[in-house]
Amino acid sequence: MELLPNIHQIRCPYANRNVFVYLLTGERTMLIDTALSDSPEGSILPYMADINLPPDNLDYILISHPDTDHQGGNDPLREKCSKALFMAHTLDAPLIEATDVLLDRRQDYSDYGIPMTPKARDRVRSLCHATTSMDVTLQGGERFRLSEGWTVEVLHTPGHSLGHLIVYDRKHRVALIQDAALGSMVPEVEGKAELPPTYRYIDTYLQTLHQLSSLPIDTLLTAHFPVMRGAEVQNFLSLSRAYCLNAERLVCEAVLDSSEAPGLPELITQLSDSLGDWPKRRRPMLAWSFLGHLERLEAHQAVRRIEGDPYVRWTKR
Ligand SMILES: [Zn+2]
Repeated sequence: MELLPNIHQIRCPYANRNVFVYLLTGERTMLIDTALSDSPEGSILPYMADINLPPDNLDYILISHPDTDHQGGNDPLREKCSKALFMAHTLDAPLIEATDVLLDRRQDYSDYGIPMTPKARDRVRSLCHATTSMDVTLQGGERFRLSEGWTVEVLHTPGHSLGHLIVYDRKHRVALIQDAALGSMVPEVEGKAELPPTYRYIDTYLQTLHQLSSLPIDTLLTAHFPVMRGAEVQNFLSLSRAYCLNAERLVCEAVLDSSEAPGLPELITQLSDSLGDWPKRRRPMLAWSFLGHLERLEAHQAVRRIEGDPYVRWTKR
């Protein structure tokens, strides 16, 4: 769907969730994210055919960050869009170029008591066909002239990943932020909570939320939420921040109040219901943000890590 002149949103279904990728069409064209392994055939290429954009005319494919549902279609698109330059942040490129690196460095919390079964790893491998090397790695601050009078900026917005990138269109006051801010939950197609927010690095996530709230944004486009406009934009950013600060407080109190030195499984069981009403099977996804909070609390010397058997735990200092 063309949301604004030359800014297209393409919906890629992922189980009961939406993944939105975006296509910017000027004299040069840019695709933001490739969704899942079946999304190019199922959603992206058919959309491009509908707007008469031959695959060979795609110039840039920007991968906002490493995750199954953002890089999974890389290989199929590399095959079809032979001229497109693949781009990602330098810090995130290694995880975007190899699914096993993505699994080991980002998605598998086995050392923290949240095992990832071989079957779950195989499922990620089947959804994520990403062995494509990045042609260009970015740092944030790059500008892409898409047509006369229309230049967009790439900004570094870490927090969900170390190298998360967004595209900012100053002319139309549109920010295409993918997962840079995650509200208080990630919704399924009907808007109900499906996942907890999966930010991972707290200091940078909070800085990113601040950075986004100081940009003039009339339209906020994300990978999983409906389009936000006007006051909804600041409300969403404030909600993202409030959720994060509340989660940190709860995690901190739970560790300080416990005589048992909890690990991630105990903290998740104890706190999940106070944070959101996602389905029970999705609770383990709290590992991402909770580990971020615990690392930050360690850095601030509020809690102490106990390495070891069978998994890492935390206690008061
Ligand atoms: Zn993500």
